[in-house]
Amino acid sequence: MKTKNIIPSLTPYKPGKTINEVKKERHLSKIVKLASNENVYGPSPLVLEKLSDFGEDLHLYPDGYARELRERVSAHLNVDMDQLIFGAGSDEIVQMLCRTYLEGGANTVMAHPTFPQYKHHAAVEGAEVREIPVKDGHHQLEQMLEAIDDKTRIVWLCSPNNPTGCYINEKQLKSFLDRCPEHVLVVLDEAYYEYVSAEDYPDSLSLLENYKNIIVLRTFSKAYGLAGFRVGYGISSEEIIRHLNTIRGPFNVTSIGQFAAINALEDQTYIKEIRQLNQNVRHEVEHFCEQHHLTYDPSETNFLLIHLPKSGLEVSDQLLDHGFIVRAGELLGIDQSIRVTIGREKDMKEFTNALSECLQ
Ligand SMILES: *Cc1c(COP(=O)(O)O)cnc(C)c1O
Repeated sequence: MKTKNIIPSLTPYKPGKTINEVKKERHLSKIVKLASNENVYGPSPLVLEKLSDFGEDLHLYPDGYARELRERVSAHLNVDMDQLIFGAGSDEIVQMLCRTYLEGGANTVMAHPTFPQYKHHAAVEGAEVREIPVKDGHHQLEQMLEAIDDKTRIVWLCSPNNPTGCYINEKQLKSFLDRCPEHVLVVLDEAYYEYVSAEDYPDSLSLLENYKNIIVLRTFSKAYGLAGFRVGYGISSEEIIRHLNTIRGPFNVTSIGQFAAINALEDQTYIKEIRQLNQNVRHEVEHFCEQHHLTYDPSETNFLLIHLPKSGLEVSDQLLDHGFIVRAGELLGIDQSIRVTIGREKDMKEFTNALSECLQ
């Protein structure tokens, strides 16, 4: 069968090992997965309680407009209902953005390394991808501006950035937006928004009024602990949302996903607790790194990119024998590093012990 020309040069997403695979392969009884930045504490207990009530209308298609979820998110963020779009994870919104705005002859600008789905979907649409290396984990915004021309359709800003954890502060963001041409859509991916505590992290929604070319992406997959349900959303101008809606699948967010997200949004106390808890444990891991003369990129997220004196592939393989699944930096575009999700305090103590053994 003849595919689009680009398809043979692309590879399917290669998922990390599952807990069961590693258990079998390494003959271990306990595995801690610190590879995909999920919330290790899971969703709010209130969500779990409510979920047992769900099930009456499983034979019906979901509400394609996600009305109740839309009303709740719109009230929570103080934006209009028609400034929102929902997706099967923010992943799906990345795909919708590429499908709507990119094609052969157009180009798109992003950091490297950053969230790999931007590049993947841009390539599928035949657009030229311009990657600007990060510096010490931070987007190089000046170079990104220079890479923009009249064929640029989308610039991706991942803040905090996956896999480095570094964020773009308010002053840097405003200065970028002031100089970014209006024909370019700026995607601000804030998947880790709820984890950030830095004072100078921008209130991106307040910028929507003045800059008509921004879309902010958020998700229920990370701090809200609902990665398995696949619910993400975008906030933008009504015009951009209308364009995205033309290609959105009519029933793209499941009914149970909508239900879980509605209930998760209710418990903001839980989100505050998670932010604090994560920060405390991350500080302990950072402290370990400092004691062992390991550098790391400054993170405002629930993961840490740790630089190593040897191959991250090798260390991540050794860590599997200790029962820890992490991501080798080599697979993410930064050699001699590992990206580690911040887990529970006790697990992270055992993790740091294992890591120091691997480095001996
Ligand atoms: C996890 C992640 C996403 C995707 O999350 P969904 O589960 O698809 O909502 C998007 N962007 C970044 C930077 C991420 O790390």
